[in-house]
Amino acid sequence: MFYIKAPTGQVSLHVLEKCILARLEYLQLLYQAKAHEFDGNFEYLLENSVYDKIGHFSLRLLASVSHDLCNYWIVRETLLFQNRLHHILPRQLYRLLRRIVCQLRLLADTKKLINRTLIDICIFLSNQSVFKHIVSKDHKKNCNCFHTKVRFELVPDLIKERKLNLNAGYAIVYCSKWKEILSSLFSTYMTTELISMKSKAKHTINHDARFDYLYQKIYYKIFKKNYGHGRVTIDNIDIESKNFPLCMQHLHKKLRNTHRLSHYARLHYSLFLKESGMVLQDAISYWKEEYSKPHSCSSLCSHHWQSNERKFVYSIRHLYGLEGSRKNYKSPNCEFMCTNFSSPMYEGGCPFKNFDINIVKKLLSSSLSDDQVTKLLNITSPQNPQIACAEYFKILDQRNSDNIVINSPLQYYLTMVNAEH
Ligand code: SF4
Repeated sequence: MFYIKAPTGQVSLHVLEKCILARLEYLQLLYQAKAHEFDGNFEYLLENSVYDKIGHFSLRLLASVSHDLCNYWIVRETLLFQNRLHHILPRQLYRLLRRIVCQLRLLADTKKLINRTLIDICIFLSNQSVFKHIVSKDHKKNCNCFHTKVRFELVPDLIKERKLNLNAGYAIVYCSKWKEILSSLFSTYMTTELISMKSKAKHTINHDARFDYLYQKIYYKIFKKNYGHGRVTIDNIDIESKNFPLCMQHLHKKLRNTHRLSHYARLHYSLFLKESGMVLQDAISYWKEEYSKPHSCSSLCSHHWQSNERKFVYSIRHLYGLEGSRKNYKSPNCEFMCTNFSSPMYEGGCPFKNFDINIVKKLLSSSLSDDQVTKLLNITSPQNPQIACAEYFKILDQRNSDNIVINSPLQYYLTMVNAEH
């Protein structure tokens, strides 16, 4: 359960995938306090089994390359550790403490503060008198018969929650806190491990198609929901763009007409599409389709898909959190769209705020009647672009949306298609 050494041997990709997916599903249910609803195969989650270790170490590797995945996984894996600790039998606990000491002593970096502290704590807890005391039925919840100390920076969660007293940079750990201290050190140990393996793991994932496949699969499984349940695909984008706010409708039309967008316009529109549900493969095909055509914009655009394919694919994958820092980039909100009007070549921005009135009129006329356009233009003011945008939404929306307030292009779209945000 507190795994230090990865198992050796061979495993087929489909078994590896099952170990990972079953673990992820269980971890998420545990996090939601619904572990009893798990109906997957428990064979992959038997404590100390090879499958359990494979799932743990594979997720450790995959999580190390992404900040989002790392935060997601450590919280849940620590919860699993706590849960297992809660049900552990005395002899299993004793074996666990001794194993941690033995395995950490075999490592080259026993000088690492976290490793040294774990060794010290496990030796302290497995000391005969302390051990007998902590596993006895009479051990009180707030007992302070035995104590030791750890550096405060190793147990930030316990310090934050004021569960331990501090003295000269050390947190005082009483015997009643043995589960808390082990869980907290488990979390710190995992964080440290993930940081130190990050660059090697990145190389492995980028150069091994199997791990790249697994990474993509779990990343989308976990974070797809954060993209909001939009439904934009390469096949429906022309129809679906009618539900986009005016700023994104404009970028879509511009791209279809000139086959190019300037850097920031491309960035903002790509992120909007990602969060509106467009999957990676569709995004690549969509941009490829346009950038393979000769451009018809006035600038001397030298970008062409065929000669820059690798660069384009890399930058799209980057936006999807699959390259570089592997962040989950978010699409801009209205405030950003209105104020970051970068250069005269930039086609983006908020039409109600930044565009010439004749361009706004032209854009509106593709979805509104002349009367509606005139009415809307009468209330349009660069000081309150979101009010005009909300009015536009209300005209197009069939439902009662009197109280709508627009704060981002994505929220506009998801509300329009009645999706969760
Ligand atoms: Fe887009 Fe926001 Fe402007 Fe509406 S108010 S057009 S959503 S930037």
